[in-house]
Amino acid sequence: MQISAIDVFPVHLPMLQSFSISGGKVGDKNAGAPHVYVKVTTDDGIEGWGEARPSHRWSYETIETVVTTINNYFVDALKGVSIFALEEIHYIMDKQIASGITRGQPIAKAAIDMAVLDAIAKTIHQPIVHSWFTEPQNMITLSYLISVSNEEEAAEKARIAKAEGYSGVDVKIGINPGKDLAILKTIKEILPDVYFRVDANQAYHLKDAMRLCKGMEEIGISVFEQPLVAGDLIGHAKLREFTTIPIALDESIWTPADVVRAIQLSACDMIVIKVTKMGGLSRAKRCGDIAKAAGLELLGGGLTESSLGLYASAHLFQALDIATPVDLNGPLFLADDPSKEMAVIQEGKIQLPKGNGIGWIVDKKKLKQYSITV
Ligand SMILES: [Mg+2]
Repeated sequence: MQISAIDVFPVHLPMLQSFSISGGKVGDKNAGAPHVYVKVTTDDGIEGWGEARPSHRWSYETIETVVTTINNYFVDALKGVSIFALEEIHYIMDKQIASGITRGQPIAKAAIDMAVLDAIAKTIHQPIVHSWFTEPQNMITLSYLISVSNEEEAAEKARIAKAEGYSGVDVKIGINPGKDLAILKTIKEILPDVYFRVDANQAYHLKDAMRLCKGMEEIGISVFEQPLVAGDLIGHAKLREFTTIPIALDESIWTPADVVRAIQLSACDMIVIKVTKMGGLSRAKRCGDIAKAAGLELLGGGLTESSLGLYASAHLFQALDIATPVDLNGPLFLADDPSKEMAVIQEGKIQLPKGNGIGWIVDKKKLKQYSITV
């Protein structure tokens, strides 16, 4: 069961709409969304699939670095390694691309980890959740992503979320900071009972975040995610002392060591589990287990992955018992992806595929159609 080949497929997927966070556009409708698919083939002919979804507005990894990292540094080093030696696979990847002041390109590593776990589960003819000793579930409940710059757009999006039956929203703020509270109030009036996640993507300084928290306490939101820059755990701890709103960390938490530091500094109430930023399913699971053991809650998120990354993440979130609506919003933004059957949202939920591995089946024609050269 050794790795005999690793193939990398960079694509630009067609988008239904552009997508912005406080740092700028992470997906442009005209350019398409950057995704990288990875196929790990074993000497028995099993194919495992993984996905990376880099964005230079969210972290330092780009579609170019994902492709060159895997092709130039991982492919030869991983050939001949058993797929069951997942820890060794990570050891080799971490040795090839060391983490220093950065995290060592976890988004590229995540695609390999996902593909290897898919191959392992297919080899033993089991759904991937059996790797985590849980049973597969049918559906995952999503939050509706709202990323707008004024109250009118906010009202329009909130009405769509209501009409479509979503039980949670994820509101991006800091895009037009002067309008943040007005936007949140507008959404809360239309959706008073949903799980109300507010994500600043590092947009604020501590004093501004404190001011904002006072207003948000009156509005009544469920959680305030990543208000300050990723490295400022002390600031997050101070904000947590100041407000009654639970504080979640996302961009601050990439590794199990980050989780431990956040726990030591009492910097948050929750962490956001994301498969790609954490270097794959196996490390994301470890981050989640550590946080849970310390009494933190977990939120589920993604980087607008397509159906493959979405299904893989959803399986993990269920294994981690994440109960709140999760932020896996690729299908809100993507017009198509290289799946035989693309993930479809119905009443704020997505039906998960059955079958061995992740349960995702590639459409090779579409993979070729959307491929780009980097
Ligand atoms: Mg976030």
